[in-house]
Amino acid sequence: MRQYVIAGNWKMNTVLSRAEELAQEIKQGISQSLHSGVSVVVFPPSVFIHPVAQHVQGTRIKVGAQNCSNEPYGAFTGEISTDMITSVGGEYTLIGHSERRVIYKESNEVVAAKVKHVLTTSLTPVLCIGETLQERQSGQTWTVLQQQLDAVYTQIDKTSAENIIIAYEPVWAIGTGVAATKVEAQEAHNFIRKYVGNYIDSTNTMILYGGSVTADNADQLLLQPDINGALIGGASLKAETFLSIIATANKLAG
Ligand code: PEP
Repeated sequence: MRQYVIAGNWKMNTVLSRAEELAQEIKQGISQSLHSGVSVVVFPPSVFIHPVAQHVQGTRIKVGAQNCSNEPYGAFTGEISTDMITSVGGEYTLIGHSERRVIYKESNEVVAAKVKHVLTTSLTPVLCIGETLQERQSGQTWTVLQQQLDAVYTQIDKTSAENIIIAYEPVWAIGTGVAATKVEAQEAHNFIRKYVGNYIDSTNTMILYGGSVTADNADQLLLQPDINGALIGGASLKAETFLSIIATANKLAG
């Protein structure tokens, strides 16, 4: 039986009414017979985690934050702590999304500090990694992925490391409409699984693909042996598309 995580990153989109409506649409549309191997997580803007979590309470839909602080609490104006996320119903957090790395200059060290802290809490970290177009074109993809993984895995112990979900998101595929091909994605996922194997038994590590996933390309990506799910941006803002990708995972898991 295959297991999948289907995750929707709403980024800085929606207002309260739309966030609640979207949560409701996903809740109503999700199959009553969702396979036990399929997990569904949505990552709304942090101010909407609480209302969204309330809407989906008691269902198979889980909620997460798009980012968090590596500090537990204190004088860090504008930051969001892991306790805050947990207290409003969040169970996951993205860390190191390429928009955080590129726009907000989050270094590998900052990302590692965040993962390390999250692993001391009950939240599950979704560690996002991936190369830029320039890095891919200059043959640096594997080096970049190694550096991003080393930064994190050298800082944490083996047992907690097993709780990390990885999202491979080539930066050139995010929001561009140009997804990695199934061959490119499988190659990268296989590389990541093998490389993480230097630190832990990575056989069961969940490695999600992200970057222009749609209802049309989801099945060929999810069929790849080292792809354990999808992190979906734009296409997760429409319940119909997101539900269609969940249905694909449901079919493949069964
Ligand atoms: C993302 O933001 O993580 C993402 C993969 O976006 P998109 O699906 O829009 O490419």
